[in-house]
Amino acid sequence: MSSPRTSPASTPVDPAEPGFGPDALRARYRAERDRRIRPEGSRQYQPVSGRFGYYDEDPYAEDGLVREPLHDRVEVVVVGGGFGGLLAGARLRQAGVDSIRVIEKGGDFGGTWYWNRYPGIHCDIESYIYLPLLEEVGYVPKWKYAPGEEIRQHARAIGRSFDLYREACFQTQVTELEWDEDAGEWLVGTDRNDRIRARYVVTASGTLSEAKLPGIPGIETFRGHTFHTSRWDYAYTGGDANGNLHKLADKRVALIGTGATAIQCVPHLGADAAELYVFQRTPSSVDVRGNRPTDPDWAASLAPGWQRHRRDNFLTLVTGGHVEEDLIDDGWTGSARLQQKLIPSDNDQDVPPEERERAYETADFQKMNEIRARVDAVVADPETAEKLKPWYRYMCKRPTFSDSYLETFNRPNVTLVDTADSHGVERITESAVVGGGTEYVVDCVIFGTGFEVGRSGITSGRLPVRGAGGVPLTEAWREGPRTLHGFYSHGFPNLFQLGPLQNASAVNFVHVLDEQATHVAEVVAEARRTRARRVEPDAKAEAAWVATIRDKAADLYKFHAECTPGYYNNEGMPRQRSESYGDGPLAFHALLRDWRANGGMREVLVDTGFDTDTGFDTDADFDTDADFDTDAGDGAGTEPGGAAAGRGK
Ligand code: NDP
Repeated sequence: MSSPRTSPASTPVDPAEPGFGPDALRARYRAERDRRIRPEGSRQYQPVSGRFGYYDEDPYAEDGLVREPLHDRVEVVVVGGGFGGLLAGARLRQAGVDSIRVIEKGGDFGGTWYWNRYPGIHCDIESYIYLPLLEEVGYVPKWKYAPGEEIRQHARAIGRSFDLYREACFQTQVTELEWDEDAGEWLVGTDRNDRIRARYVVTASGTLSEAKLPGIPGIETFRGHTFHTSRWDYAYTGGDANGNLHKLADKRVALIGTGATAIQCVPHLGADAAELYVFQRTPSSVDVRGNRPTDPDWAASLAPGWQRHRRDNFLTLVTGGHVEEDLIDDGWTGSARLQQKLIPSDNDQDVPPEERERAYETADFQKMNEIRARVDAVVADPETAEKLKPWYRYMCKRPTFSDSYLETFNRPNVTLVDTADSHGVERITESAVVGGGTEYVVDCVIFGTGFEVGRSGITSGRLPVRGAGGVPLTEAWREGPRTLHGFYSHGFPNLFQLGPLQNASAVNFVHVLDEQATHVAEVVAEARRTRARRVEPDAKAEAAWVATIRDKAADLYKFHAECTPGYYNNEGMPRQRSESYGDGPLAFHALLRDWRANGGMREVLVDTGFDTDTGFDTDADFDTDADFDTDAGDGAGTEPGGAAAGRGK
């Protein structure tokens, strides 16, 4: 059963209705939050390393890769082959850089879309604005919301289009970065004993890339089959990302977690497993999906520049700005519109803050009432429906969208196990998962329990970085991150970080990554043109940017403090300090463009006109074999399995 998309305009909900009045809702939200708060906060989770390392093993890569360690030089090493790394590679290529080596832990490009291949996987951001470089690659996605495999194939197409397979190293993890002051280069160490010299390093290792497990008592004692959703074991379940998990026909399966991942894989598990037990601690808000195939006439009518225009349209809408027409017209822009209906603009300073907050809260109550009403309309068993209703403000948790998740709980073989009162699953035994006071004997436990959030390898220290004078980055950042525009830090020349830290963030994060990659490529191009020895902000510029971040930081503390726990609010213990640019991504992107156009790059280019016998000084000399002994072979444009795989895989 699928319910039609409803809008607040078509189904007005009276916030004063008994049980739904603002005071009742506030009290209910508080009570629901309080029963989920755990004093250990994010320490309730454990990484998939050490004794849980098998949860992190790559089920997709070729086994038994053996290759000689590399001891060579490239102009740019890019750490990470997801969309951030691919965009960095592509934009650098467009800027004229020939020698680019992407180093990636997985067996191919794709990042998130390499690792996450669970059944039902789709991107819930519209494909036409999410998949990057569509015009450059000459591709229009087949669906409004693309399946994961199509996105993964697009990542590979970017690798081919921009000739990034030629130098790539897959199944390889960067383990250290060390600045060599005399040579003006980075030494890049890997877990395959590579020792690669690089003029520039770009880190793009992702923000939701390290899977995590809950610290459930007894988790290590389970004797049945088990895996994390980001390493789906199709050898065990059968089928593929389209479903048909035929090997589960006689299996009792426990899925732990009900976030954006679970929303997508539960319908397939429910359809194919003998028994499915979904262990829920906090229900997601599940709005209408409405996926549809791409209209070929529309695709044929797209004029050059369409993707940028569409992406900007979305970003403007979801950050409270005004556009003539909502080109995307979906749950994301719909909820932004809802806010704007009551708050003409987030930037409208004429409206007193209390009035704006009241209007925002009312719109929020209406949206969540609508989401809860949808549960009642879809789920047949009233008790199950009650458990599936989210009681918190809309943006406390990541909104989700599905036209088949709620319906799955109408199946006789599917049981929802509510674990809120025990702060999650109580324990796991050799053969069972215990939740809601009941023991469920199962053959398989699947963890849909998410990822470590917002900590890249270099900020967490997992990837040690030593800059000028051997100073570790973690030491330089002892008092907190220090960057200019989020990209570079004093004492760490020629190192560019992609990610949200002291930079911008947005729902469509790939858009942000593209702006970042474009910026880095332009700075590198200018550094090459002016023959700068180093790209590095001085301490003053860095301090000024940190102060700007502090001054402009949006005060979301109160909102997050009242939210149900989750990764958006550091498991109910929100940080006082925001590390994102407070005026929002559009303003930040404009700031970067102005900075580049108005001589800002001179701030970070040090020792221009630098000339040595290393051959790094001119474009013309740069890509000779003498400079880069990279054993590139004849693998231009090849993919894993081709010539590049001999070295890269
Ligand atoms: P999440 O972190 O969103 O969800 C983890 C789930 O595990 C939550 O429901 C959590 O409950 C539950 N959980 C954790 N510990 C326990 C426990 N001890 N007992 C019971 N339940 C527990 O991970 P996801 O993989 O679902 O999603 C991560 C992110 O990935 C998303 O937020 C989104 O950003 C991205 N994503 C994007 C998609 C897209 O289409 N663009 C699709 C899928 C994911 P609780 O909520 O109570 O903490």
